[in-house]
Amino acid sequence: MAAVVAAAADLSLIAYGDVVAGCEQCALSQTRTQVVFGSGSPTAELMFVGEAPGFHEDKQGVPFVGAAGKLLGKLLEGIGMSRDDVYVANVIKCRPPGNRDPLPGEIQACEGHLFRQIELVQPTLVATLGNFATKLLSGKPTGITQVHGREQQVVLGGNPVTLYPIFHPAAALYTPRMLQVLEEDFRRIPELLGREAAPPPPPPAPLYVPEPAAEPEHSVQLGLF
Ligand code: URA
Repeated sequence: MAAVVAAAADLSLIAYGDVVAGCEQCALSQTRTQVVFGSGSPTAELMFVGEAPGFHEDKQGVPFVGAAGKLLGKLLEGIGMSRDDVYVANVIKCRPPGNRDPLPGEIQACEGHLFRQIELVQPTLVATLGNFATKLLSGKPTGITQVHGREQQVVLGGNPVTLYPIFHPAAALYTPRMLQVLEEDFRRIPELLGREAAPPPPPPAPLYVPEPAAEPEHSVQLGLF
């Protein structure tokens, strides 16, 4: 039964992706290589929402395939998950020229696609990556620096959802302190999903193991006398 539900969800998402592939609701349709709709499990419990496709995403048609995407994959691995377990999308589906910030009119033209994706995937936890996704999906102007790591209960796509704002991996790539905070916030995801956290990785094998000291042949157990 679960497989049938997953297949139906996949079909609806694919069908909607086909519609969005021809979107011309804003001027980005004139400069994009292709629409970057989303990727991952159509029935994911956990969905990530980033900002906008960059150079590599625009070429490949898949979100988060560049350096920020590699970091996202590593962070997922750290909590025992992979890209196949989650769904990943962006606030806007077409690359802004030169990777500039999305304009308010572009976000407005595109937001319906994101809300429909959330409605179709029905995640229980939506992690917003950075300011643009956080502000759009929380409906509040408060920036990521203030709200990161603090879950909020919202209704998205007609369903109750836990919204979890975290730093954008692209920002964390160049700021070690931000990376540390992103890693800390990421470690709470299993708990927010109501899952067991992944076991910590085994400690690295020691390079040199000293031999135990040999016992003297007639050792005297001084403590006994
Ligand atoms: N940054 C984003 O916000 N989205 C991508 O798909 C890639 C980088």
